[in-house]
Amino acid sequence: MVTIIYLDNAATSKVSKAALDAMLPYLTEGFGNPSTIYSAGRDAKNAVESSRRIIANAIGAQPEEIYFTSGGTEADNWAIKSAVEMNQSKGKHIITSAIEHPAVLNTLKHLVKCGYEATYLGVDERGQISLDELRGAIRSDTVLITIMTANNEIGTILPVSEIGAIAGENGVLFHTDAVQAVGHIPVDAKAMNADMLSMSGHKLGGAKGIGALYVKKGLRLLPLLHGGGQERGGRSGTENVAGIVSFAAALDDILPRLPLERLAQMRDRLIQEVLKIPRSRLTGDRVNRLPGIASFIFEAIEGESMLLLLDQLGICASSGSACSSGSLDPSHVLLATGLSHEAAHGSLRLSLSEDNTDDDINYVIEKLPEVVAKLRRMSPLWHEI
Ligand code: PLP
Repeated sequence: MVTIIYLDNAATSKVSKAALDAMLPYLTEGFGNPSTIYSAGRDAKNAVESSRRIIANAIGAQPEEIYFTSGGTEADNWAIKSAVEMNQSKGKHIITSAIEHPAVLNTLKHLVKCGYEATYLGVDERGQISLDELRGAIRSDTVLITIMTANNEIGTILPVSEIGAIAGENGVLFHTDAVQAVGHIPVDAKAMNADMLSMSGHKLGGAKGIGALYVKKGLRLLPLLHGGGQERGGRSGTENVAGIVSFAAALDDILPRLPLERLAQMRDRLIQEVLKIPRSRLTGDRVNRLPGIASFIFEAIEGESMLLLLDQLGICASSGSACSSGSLDPSHVLLATGLSHEAAHGSLRLSLSEDNTDDDINYVIEKLPEVVAKLRRMSPLWHEI
């Protein structure tokens, strides 16, 4: 059997041991409904509230500023739709970037159909927006700026503190999708001047199906779901207790020993060695980059074919984002960085976790050039170059 080398942690991560150990009792003997008053229910309620405190603390927030959701997509939808709906009297203009996750872009697409207007800030080849362009895009009817903390495909970390300051100076709400950042780099919602911030458990060692939205104290959102009034009336529905506990336990485990340097070291070795492959390029920002993401373009290669061959060798990787795989459209992120459709098709993302070893990296460094060479031998495009 081929050993699996999992290098797709930006798509999803394995539930960490700390998270699994913490969540299991809430699936077995501690299965009470947090809304009930007997001790099993009170225990579950306490677990939810102590998880809320841990997650709040992890991003420099207060527990009452954290609302649990089913994940990052739900947090993005809730933040954006609610913020604009609450502020319709001021205007209907929203500013975002061209490289947001579909959870943001498709929410905006929906809102545009409903009569809102969106400005999509372009990015340079590193995936960075221009702060001057952002300032210039703000209008008297701008109600929301939604720009991600870090990009899931190319790993670029955006200047969110500066973006938050600009939003604040102009009296515009600021939401940031921090799904790829929380649990990976230090995140402080207050330092970012964020009004709303989205997180997701399964990107950082928690279970799938749990996320959270930070909402700055004093800011009111419309309820997302109506029902029994859970999450202080914001999101009704019996809480995903085990998921919530796993999310908090994963964060609590990873944050005090965030392996920034070790990941960056493995990432940089990958980058250095992979770029020795002829006609390969790094995508994203060389400097302001998530420690666990190495992303590339290989000329005259079809990303999907590369993934299949890597899979045969036991390497799990990604081309474009997991959410857009299955579609033949090249990644909107890569196109926004100025790459042609043809070039964008040859993308590869390797995303690391602390479980990866130097041997994993060595194996990829050994096998990837062979995969690229094999595909190029079969590619009609390669001979034309
Ligand atoms: N935002 C970003 C930047 C992401 O990378 C993802 C997941 O790929 C999401 C949002 C969606 O999160 P979830 O899978 O928890 O809905």
